[in-house]
Amino acid sequence: MKINFPLVIVGSQWGDEGKGKIVDLLSNQATHVVRYNGGNNAGHSVVLNGEKFKLSLLPSGVLHKKKLFLSQGVVIDPKVLLDEISFFEKRKIKVNLTIDPRVNVVMPYHKALDRATEIWKGKKATGSLHLGIGYCYEDKNNRFGVRFEDLINATSLKERLELIFPLKKLQIEKVYGQKFDLTMETIYKEYNRYGRKLKKYLGDVSFCLAKEIKKSRVLFEGAHGTFLDGVFGTWPYTTAVYTIAGGVFPYVGLSPQKIYSMGIVKAYTTRVGNGPFPTELFDKTGNKIREIGGEFGTVSKRPRRCGWLDLCLVRTAIRLSGLDYLAITKLDVLSAVDKIRVCTHYVIASEAKQSQKKRSLRRFTPRDDKGKIIKEVPALMSDFTKCKPVYKEFRGWRNDISKVRRFEDLPKEAKIYIKFIEKQSRVPIKYIFVGPERSQTIIL
Ligand code: GDP
Ligand code: MG
Repeated sequence: MKINFPLVIVGSQWGDEGKGKIVDLLSNQATHVVRYNGGNNAGHSVVLNGEKFKLSLLPSGVLHKKKLFLSQGVVIDPKVLLDEISFFEKRKIKVNLTIDPRVNVVMPYHKALDRATEIWKGKKATGSLHLGIGYCYEDKNNRFGVRFEDLINATSLKERLELIFPLKKLQIEKVYGQKFDLTMETIYKEYNRYGRKLKKYLGDVSFCLAKEIKKSRVLFEGAHGTFLDGVFGTWPYTTAVYTIAGGVFPYVGLSPQKIYSMGIVKAYTTRVGNGPFPTELFDKTGNKIREIGGEFGTVSKRPRRCGWLDLCLVRTAIRLSGLDYLAITKLDVLSAVDKIRVCTHYVIASEAKQSQKKRSLRRFTPRDDKGKIIKEVPALMSDFTKCKPVYKEFRGWRNDISKVRRFEDLPKEAKIYIKFIEKQSRVPIKYIFVGPERSQTIIL
C-alpha cells in the first residue's frame, strides 16, 4: 500500500518520536512541506551523511529543497528562524519559505514572563524551556500579540509595542517581582531589523495551500506529540497548542477534508519535563535506553524520562487523530535489552496492588472483577495518575539490527514485537526505523 497525500505527521506519545526523520524521508515524495503548530520549543534532528541537522522552526523538508510553509498556528522567534535560514544558506541549500501574516511573534517579554511564571509555580512548574512559546500563544488568543504582519511593518510594530510593552513590564516587575531591563526602544530596534530581513517570506499560506492541496502533494509536519496537546494531552503538563491531526484545519486555514495521517510511535516511551508517565522506568534498563537511544532534548539537552511502550497512549492517539498509518522508530535501541515489556492496558491503583501478587512472568491481568481495566488514557487526569500499567513481556533479540533493511531479515523476536504492536493498534505499520540515518529504514 502506498502512502497517500495530503498527509499529516503526528507524534503518538510525548514528542521526540523521530518525526524529523520521517518528515525528511517523506518530503522526498511531497512537493510542499508545512509546519503548522508550535514554536522553537519543538526540536527535530535529521541525520544526513553522518551530519546532524537540528531544526526547531524550519520544516524538515528544507534538506530536499521543497516549498516550505509556516502557517498561522506556528509562533516564530525571528532570531531563531533567521539563524536556521542562514545555517542552510551557508551550505548552499536554498530556503524556499512562505510565512503567513497571521503567525504570532515571540517577544522578549514572553520569555521573561515564562521564566517568572515557572519560578512562581515552583514544584508544579510545567517544565517549560523559558522560550516564551506558551506566553506568545496566550497573547495570540487574547488578541494582544504581535503578528508577522506587524513585525514586517515598522509603524505597526511601533504601535503594537506602545500598546503592549508597558503592561508587560508592569506584570513582570510588579506582579512577579522579577527584573526586566529591556526598553521598548531596544526591542523595537532589534525586532524591526528582523522584520526587514524576513519580509520577503510573506505570503497567504491558507490561500495558497487551499489550491495546492488538491493538485500537489502536501505534507504537514506536526510538532510535539499527542499527549502534549494543550487540551487532550496530560494537562497541564502540555504545550499550549493542539497537536492532534485535526489541528491542521484551523492552524493552516483549510476547510475540513480528508487528510491522511501517520502516527509516529517510538518503540519505547519518553517524555521531557513533568507530568504523569505510567510506564516510566527508574532502573538500569531505563538508564540504558536513555544512553543508547541518546534520549536528551534536541533544544534543551535535558535527559528525557524513559519507559516501556504504552499501547494505551497509542490507542488514544489513533482515536484522536484517526491515524491511517504507523511508523515505529528507534527499534534498534531495544537491541540492548534482554526482556522487553509493553503496557497492554492499565488498572486503577488499588486493584493493581492486589493483582501484582498474582502476576505471572509473561503476563498478569487482574482477576478481581471489580478491577477496572482501562485501555485508553482516561479523560480525568485524576484517574490517569492512579493508572498502573499491566505488561506483556517479550524476549529481546540482542542482535545489532541497524543494518537490516527488510522486515524478513529482522530477528524473529523483533518481528513478533512489531506484529504485536500492529495487531493491538489495528493500523498498518509502514516504516520501521533501525537507526537515525535516512537509509536505516525498513519500508513495509
Ligand atoms: P522529533 O522531535 O520527533 O523529530 O524527534 P527528535 O529529533 O527530538 O528525537 C529523535 C532522535 O532520535 C533524533 O536524534 C534522531 O536522529 C534519532 N532517531 C530517529 N530515528 C531513530 C532510530 O530509528 N534509531 C536511532 N537510534 N535513533 C533515531
Ligand atoms: Mg523533538
